[in-house]
Amino acid sequence: MSGALFARHALLPTGWARDVLLEWDAAGTLRVVQPGAQAGAAVEQAAGPVLPGMPNLHSHAFQRVLGGRTEYRGQARDSFWSWRTLMYRIAGAIAPEQLEAIATGLYVEMLEAGYTSVCEFHYLHHDAGGRPYADDSTLSQCLLRAAERAGIGFTLLPVLYQAAGFGGTPPRQEQQRFIRATGSMLHLLERLLPLCLAQGARLGLAPHSLRAVPPESLREALAGLDAIDTSAPVHIHVAEQTAEVEACLAWSGQRPVEWLLDHAPVDRRWCLVHATHMSAQESARAAATGAVAGLCPTTEANLGDGIFDVPAWRAAGGRWGVGSDSHACVDAAEELMMLEYSQRLQVRQRNVMAGPVQRCVATAMTLEAVAGGAQASGRPVAGLAAGQRADLVVLDASHPLLEGLPSPDAMLAAHVFASHRRCAIGSVWAGGCLAVREGRHALHESATRGFVDARRALARTID
Ligand code: ZN
Repeated sequence: MSGALFARHALLPTGWARDVLLEWDAAGTLRVVQPGAQAGAAVEQAAGPVLPGMPNLHSHAFQRVLGGRTEYRGQARDSFWSWRTLMYRIAGAIAPEQLEAIATGLYVEMLEAGYTSVCEFHYLHHDAGGRPYADDSTLSQCLLRAAERAGIGFTLLPVLYQAAGFGGTPPRQEQQRFIRATGSMLHLLERLLPLCLAQGARLGLAPHSLRAVPPESLREALAGLDAIDTSAPVHIHVAEQTAEVEACLAWSGQRPVEWLLDHAPVDRRWCLVHATHMSAQESARAAATGAVAGLCPTTEANLGDGIFDVPAWRAAGGRWGVGSDSHACVDAAEELMMLEYSQRLQVRQRNVMAGPVQRCVATAMTLEAVAGGAQASGRPVAGLAAGQRADLVVLDASHPLLEGLPSPDAMLAAHVFASHRRCAIGSVWAGGCLAVREGRHALHESATRGFVDARRALARTID
């Protein structure tokens, strides 16, 4: 559906602009982004500052049902690894219709929270017994349908998972749903490609981690992906845990990012998810490849992973974006806030992520996260510019925390840093379609009910 919106203030890739006419075509692509325009009576006027929609670069949809279930101490020193035990129980029990309902609820929630597209790092492939479904793409199709119903832009990243640890340790029983031989993965990609193209989704590949994918498989899978699409996105979990770094050193004599840079063709197609534990040299080398650092601040905080060194990464010219990963929190603004606050606590300064041009930290972070997220998504979602998707987020200028503030910078800063749990988003367009009006998605009630019912049914099977 083609459309248009007039914005008194719109955040373009170059910064705030006044009196901007935004027009998009029937395919949902922006065709006109014109500052200094006249507000015509026929064009809807935005009810507040207009932001680019945020690409969510890392999601495991089913993990949304873990919320609230893992916040107690299970052992003297609780950790990522004990969280993973419950996550595996849920992963082992989930049925296709439950996955679809959970993902639909989640994607609706994402749109209401300012994410207009998502990269789904999808590692549940088989049935609860670890056997392939009659249609081997069953669970991937559940996610594609969920994204289409919610109306969120989609990058599907089927996950290659083959081993329980470095050196090809055989997978454990609870990992059987994830396991695929490399040839089976390449068949899956071929099966999914036309389905993705049919709904405007992008298909990529996610080698799960260096723990889970032996070197020979990594090489073969990347070669197979290139035969399908030489520009397809490649995402990998790379150095989330210090135990993972130590295990990699014991296996190879190298740290994970160092090993990856020496053994894989890392470039702009790559998203290094949770590259939390890098040496200064790894950070500088990885940034120079043009790869995006996939930061998931609230999940990394929830799991006690550690703090990514943003100043070092940005000083080396590194690109970054945000993901909601385990969905401990589903809110693009809160991810930015958590990221900035983790840096403030680390370096004991304020406004660490402000830029030389954009001195307002929320504005600088929004623009950088949209650019990095778009690159990682492999879709044209890089903000308010002609040729990009019409993914627009309109802040509600009458929200109590925004009303009367003197500038769009201040309003965006209030949205990111001062609106906690009282979201200041008014409306959201994804691909030119109005997905959220007055803060609510059209499917809000039914998708939320579907999510709650699926979670209840799942709890009955695991508790
Ligand atoms: Zn992840």
